[in-house]
Amino acid sequence: MSGRAVTLTFLGASGTVTGSKFLLTVGGARRVLIDAGMFQGEKRWRLKNWEPFPVEPSSLSDVVITHAHADHVGYVPALVREGYAGPIWMTEGTRQLAEIVLRDAGKLQEEQAEQARRHGWSKHEEPRPLFTVADVERALPLFRTVEFEQDVDLGDGLVGRWTRAGHILGSASVRLQLPETSVLVSGDLGRHDHPLLKGRGTPQGADYVLCESTYGDREHPEIDPPHQVLAEAITRTVARGGLVVIPAFAIDRTQGVLRVLVQLLREGRIPRVPVVVDSPMALRALDVYRDSSLGELREDVAVEDFTDLPELIEARTSKESRALNRRFDPMVIVASSGMAEGGRVLHHLARLLPDRRNTVVLTGFQAAGTRGRSLQDGAGHVKINGHHVRVRAEIVRSGEFSVHGDASDLLDWLRALEPAPETVYVVHGEPTAAEHFATRVEDELDWTAVVPRYGEVVSLVPGHADPPDLEGAGEETADGQEGAGRRG
Ligand code: ZN
Repeated sequence: MSGRAVTLTFLGASGTVTGSKFLLTVGGARRVLIDAGMFQGEKRWRLKNWEPFPVEPSSLSDVVITHAHADHVGYVPALVREGYAGPIWMTEGTRQLAEIVLRDAGKLQEEQAEQARRHGWSKHEEPRPLFTVADVERALPLFRTVEFEQDVDLGDGLVGRWTRAGHILGSASVRLQLPETSVLVSGDLGRHDHPLLKGRGTPQGADYVLCESTYGDREHPEIDPPHQVLAEAITRTVARGGLVVIPAFAIDRTQGVLRVLVQLLREGRIPRVPVVVDSPMALRALDVYRDSSLGELREDVAVEDFTDLPELIEARTSKESRALNRRFDPMVIVASSGMAEGGRVLHHLARLLPDRRNTVVLTGFQAAGTRGRSLQDGAGHVKINGHHVRVRAEIVRSGEFSVHGDASDLLDWLRALEPAPETVYVVHGEPTAAEHFATRVEDELDWTAVVPRYGEVVSLVPGHADPPDLEGAGEETADGQEGAGRRG
């Protein structure tokens, strides 16, 4: 085993927060992809989804997944479509959520390609989706589940171990041990406590650590009493006979919002009104969160703690969703998507935004260019399904729902690692957040902390710097010329 070159290539979440993909090569034979995330957000990154994968997907030996968010697992069906047929390792919770996320993504890809074809948006003869629902169905049988804190023998002396990350259900940090070296990938790390899930664990340290830095330059405010902004907004709105709309991500955010609503009701801080969950994807994820056999819930949290509402309306079909338009009594509607870019929240916003009695509560980060951001910035109108809708409803921002650790949470996670790493690679952050966090790691922990470039290759054993044979990776990769449909 000695004398093998071991390298790591940063193929995503480097210079940006999305597209997590890290390629570990061991000697000539072994190529392990850690996370297979889709690029989202800015166009220059999104276009990379359509570039040929830097190594032949069929030459990968394993794919290991940290958690079920699309920016960590969403590229899996594209890899399978391009020839990958090996095992895809993840926890059982991640498997169940990834199934929901990927089927939804496949449908969305097909719909977008169809729209591009119909409206002639694509420069290409035949716009194609990045992957189809059929590609997703081909990928699912490759999933292999692992237990938390159990060594998984991946062959050739490679041993994987998944440790709770406390971010979303099933989420983990993954440590890969080789005879020559070891590498630990944080995945996305939760805060020191999650409202529903067991907290993150402390993995064994490793020679090389990849640490996320989404909030690497921020600290979450501590608000006392918790969720007072939300409680007051609901109370005020109900008092004037209005409805509250909460755009929320389907996975984890919706479930976290329900938990807070149950708590506020029990404490008598909000009136007893019906709560609607209007998102098929969020309801499917809610079923996974309710499955206590997974062992993911905190010891002090029972299923009733996020479902025990005076009236919980689950709008699974679009007919059930449209029926809500006939109700004008005060209620709280939790609907996807979180940034109001699509999904059923749109028809609620179109109906409720023009009325001053109603309130929209934004619960998460609203990226530039999204409707959620326009609302947050006080826009007088927003465009929904081709119509300009006047915004008279109250817009409230509640910043307490993040499931990403802040800079102190991230430093605490690193500080607990034993032994200390040789180098920390700071990934999964916007450039300023990543640089800021790397500086803190060097200043406060006195460890070497590097923000890798997209496409950068590093050696994980002394004396071996030979990069693997890659096509197309690296900063010089041309962006911006091709849109949907470049594959095939
Ligand atoms: Zn995540």
